[in-house]
Amino acid sequence: RKCANSDEGRCESNRGGAEVCEAMSIRENYLTIRENMEKAAAMAGRDVNTVKLIAVTKFVEEARISEALDCGVTAVGENRVQELTGKLEFFRARGAEVNLIGQLQTNKVKYIIGKVDMIQSVDRLALAQEIDRLAARADVVQDVMIEVNIGGEAQKGGIGPDELPEFLEMISAMNGIRVRGLMCIPPAVGEDGARPYFAKMRTLFETLGSNQLPNVSMEQLSMGMSGDYMAAIAEGATMIRVGTALFGARQYAAART
Ligand SMILES: *Cc1c(COP(=O)(O)O)cnc(C)c1O
Repeated sequence: RKCANSDEGRCESNRGGAEVCEAMSIRENYLTIRENMEKAAAMAGRDVNTVKLIAVTKFVEEARISEALDCGVTAVGENRVQELTGKLEFFRARGAEVNLIGQLQTNKVKYIIGKVDMIQSVDRLALAQEIDRLAARADVVQDVMIEVNIGGEAQKGGIGPDELPEFLEMISAMNGIRVRGLMCIPPAVGEDGARPYFAKMRTLFETLGSNQLPNVSMEQLSMGMSGDYMAAIAEGATMIRVGTALFGARQYAAART
């Protein structure tokens, strides 16, 4: 599609429908995102400083990640263990907070236990048990978030909203794990369509937050990606996970081929 910003540029819509301009630099993209974050927070009567931008750095090379960190990004998210561990030294050297946001196989927990700041994608009991077991062995407490299958989609991982209270109770008995909040990836229905799912997440987050279970606190609500982070902020997100809108769509396309 013709680009509004440059003759050479190319514009694409991502999964969530966000316009992503390939001609814009990471710094320009970053400033646009910060502006949008401020707008969304102001409209919701929230302090923008209660929302953390997590730069999703999957498929992005370190030089380009560096550009984002230079702009003021403080947290990164990777969705594959192998890629994450390959970049871990770089992330540490740059002082970035590291989040695993993708599906985690039980046999890969050993590579990241105690090495990442947050595992956002705890989506089943067997995974929680393995994290707990290896955390105890390494004498660490691993911060995690519970992934919620908020749309009840059969093809997606995550704990169903109705199963959450019982799931949290079981995790609460695991001393190697500290639950810090909830995350979700809503159905791909565009920003307006996603908003009711974000609202449901917020209700869960608030309700569960008053349960006072040991090892469980509801501090972080991770929701919203490039196409829908403003709606997520409007509904109370404390973390948004943004890849395409910051780095451009090209690297994802390249990685798929
Ligand atoms: C890739 C990814 C994102 C970022 O998606 P964009 O639409 O590129 O911003 C966020 N969350 C998860 C779990 C992802 O895998």
